[in-house]
Amino acid sequence: MAEWRKFAEKQKAKRRGKNQVVEESKVAEEIVVQRMSADVSGKQQKYSRIGAQEYVPFEQDELSIRNIKDACQKHFGPQIEKDLVCDVLAGERGPSCNKMAQIPNKKVFYVRFVKPEGELEEEENCSREPKRARYDKASTTRSLPSPKKQHGSLVSKVYPKSLSVVEMLRLGNVIAKSTTTVIDIFMFNIEHMEWFTAPVTVEFRIADLPFASGGFREAFKANSDTLGFSGVTWVIKKYLKATSEDIIKTNQTVESHTRKAVQMHHLARNFTSQLKEKVEKETLTEFGTTFHYKKVFLGKMSDGDYVTIEEFIDGVFVKYINNNGDICAKDDVLCDKAQCFAHFTYEKSQGKLMVLDVQGAGLNLYDPEIASAELTDGDGSLRFCNGNLAEGAIRNFFAKHKCNSYCKILQLKLLPSASQ
Ligand SMILES: [Zn+2]
Repeated sequence: MAEWRKFAEKQKAKRRGKNQVVEESKVAEEIVVQRMSADVSGKQQKYSRIGAQEYVPFEQDELSIRNIKDACQKHFGPQIEKDLVCDVLAGERGPSCNKMAQIPNKKVFYVRFVKPEGELEEEENCSREPKRARYDKASTTRSLPSPKKQHGSLVSKVYPKSLSVVEMLRLGNVIAKSTTTVIDIFMFNIEHMEWFTAPVTVEFRIADLPFASGGFREAFKANSDTLGFSGVTWVIKKYLKATSEDIIKTNQTVESHTRKAVQMHHLARNFTSQLKEKVEKETLTEFGTTFHYKKVFLGKMSDGDYVTIEEFIDGVFVKYINNNGDICAKDDVLCDKAQCFAHFTYEKSQGKLMVLDVQGAGLNLYDPEIASAELTDGDGSLRFCNGNLAEGAIRNFFAKHKCNSYCKILQLKLLPSASQ
């Protein structure tokens, strides 16, 4: 009861703005923070300041290292790279602190953002817990889990989260609203050549910053706890502002363009499936393994933006052929197979189109473009997407491609006629 009374008094004092009464666990609504560089530099081996001092909202009742880290993680989250965690420094020259007593000046807190590996993990008032659990904690508030464990099958083994005592106690208060984004997912069915009309609603945690950016789109990593989407690292691709403007200039909408991007991906995926089937059916074992594309979905964000959603593919990115039909990779088995694949799509479509921008990691391809012999449809609308460099790209490809052993295994014959 005495404890409860103390709490009531503290709250009363807080409401009156007389929170100075409480000394050790000073309650403030904001703390002053100076963000510092992740590493030391220069002769003096000092951390350098990033930006000016800032007021960081502080909602906790206790001024502890963990609470300072949580507040800074939340405040600076949008500016920092994914997976980085907050480290509190004693001053501009460090060192890292794990106890409040190590901070000499509590008027300004110096923090930096570092990779969780190598971080001093133990804190005051905090039992030692496995590194993995701490990592998960960071990921549930701001960023994303490591793709290493996540990548792979849709069904992942789920370990029970190991809660620290601080986390157990935190559950006694209402946890701030999460930072998840709800996306309506629409699927395309190539068997029936139609879109499913009813969307599936999925909640994602999306990284604040893109991990990759191309000519047309930028890509954000995301994960989800929604059934069927959990245990996998996803990539959400959004058109760049300039691309959206270009799309509108060509009398399309971002929605229609995104739908076409998904359809185009399904077409490329169908070609890889056809090639695989041909190799298996005709027992062309000397061809070896074939390329493939994973599934892609159309997403409508709550703000009305359209995106594509696909599984994250780990590995070194290689562009085998660009959308102009140039062969970009060095001569090797995969580059030969990529050229053979492009040639195969040309023959399979009776010279009407070709899959270009053949790229990805190893045998996993993504972000294809289609070049169509005719750029526009009968009604003048653009076929496929803005990266369609049409017949010029197809001719350019054939000017550079010499049929290789894989084209011969598949007995590819069709080439563009010499006449224009
Ligand atoms: Zn060929």
